Amino acid sequence: MKSYNNRIFDISVLVPIYNEEKILPELYTRIRETLITISENYEIVFVNDGSTDNSILEILKLSEQDKNVFYINFSRNFGHQIAVTAGIDSCRGKSVVIIDGDLQDPPELIKELYDKHKEGYDVVYAKRRKREGETWFKRVSAKYFYKILKNITLIDIPVDVGDYRIISSKVVEYLRLMPEQNKFLRGQIAWLGFKQTEVLFNRDERKFGKTAYTLNKMLSFAIDGIAAFSDVPLKLVTKLGFFISLFSFIIIIYALISNFILKSTISGWTSLIISFTFIGGIQLFSIGIIGEYISRINNNVRNRPLYIIQETNINKH
Ligand code: UDP
Ligand code: MG
Repeated sequence: MKSYNNRIFDISVLVPIYNEEKILPELYTRIRETLITISENYEIVFVNDGSTDNSILEILKLSEQDKNVFYINFSRNFGHQIAVTAGIDSCRGKSVVIIDGDLQDPPELIKELYDKHKEGYDVVYAKRRKREGETWFKRVSAKYFYKILKNITLIDIPVDVGDYRIISSKVVEYLRLMPEQNKFLRGQIAWLGFKQTEVLFNRDERKFGKTAYTLNKMLSFAIDGIAAFSDVPLKLVTKLGFFISLFSFIIIIYALISNFILKSTISGWTSLIISFTFIGGIQLFSIGIIGEYISRINNNVRNRPLYIIQETNINKH
């Protein structure tokens, strides 16, 4: 592993790109204008995550214009978290910014993040003051998700914070040592510790296109976050099983007494149906939870590369 002192850029900016061709020119201009107020010695790494539009052509154009623009072109879509991970694996800056490519994270904030970072914080994340153009459902579900996560994991992931942040090369080194296949970067960074702080900003609406995070993807992301950092659901299943067994033991005694001692016949259709369906539901749910963990073990045991690079202009260091 290379020491983090050998970095050749003062600052790296990592941008995952999925179908953002319309936004790329403005995105690049605004990032560059902010970066040159910090240092001319910057790099911008675009990770094209299997876009189906012409994003890659726009990125190639930019990399010809500006020798500090680098790209990683995936062989297909691997997802936002993996795209950011590829950037983390290849960046060479002393400080590294992770930013969304849809201009919902205003690039001008990089200066503020950087200044705060230079006060001695390893991680400075951008915290949304208000969320423009996001549905009521997304706001409420996100809020409760992070509350639950905080309660069942030992790590404290800040609420209203995405992946927009600046991290030191020390944090980058440790992220590279975390090989899990189901990525939940903001959790990993919170788990690492170090000195962390926040800067507040207003999150803008998406200018073009629409969010790629469907309800289904959000749900998978949430389950990833929980399964990667907590065994509480598994323990919950054990406890649930214990209490239901205890309860059913009492019912068994009661049934035996009323049959053999009290000799009273039980007209039991309703209670049978209720207990069958109840136990059936609980069992499926519990198997499902165990399955979530097993599928993650399976993913990690397979040990495939996280992503496949079709083409890049970063010389492997
Ligand atoms: N993105 C990506 N791969 C995907 C989906 C999204 O690289 O499969 C990128 C996208 O181009 C954007 C960022 O990840 O730069 C955030 O995506 P999006 O705006 O859809 O998420 P949201 O802002 O709704 O959380
Ligand atoms: Mg977005």
